[in-house]
Amino acid sequence: MADCKKLETCIFFNDRMQNMPAVADIYKQNFCRGDFFKCARFVVLEALGREKVPSTLFPNQIELASEIIRKG
Ligand code: SF4
Repeated sequence: MADCKKLETCIFFNDRMQNMPAVADIYKQNFCRGDFFKCARFVVLEALGREKVPSTLFPNQIELASEIIRKG
């Protein structure tokens, strides 16, 4: 598994989100250091750009990511 190329600047990976979930370390393993292409933050960032990624969006919220992308 490859690391996400956004690791260094990602507010989730760097614990800078306001309400980090208790399962944050598991998400980091599963998404940031694993299937990063399935991460909601990564998907929105790639589709729309960094400024469109909500500060509250967690990696596992892929359905919400799809909605955000649909709305543009
Ligand atoms: S996988 Fe998602 S949460 Fe993790 S570093 Fe990449 S963009 Fe950030």
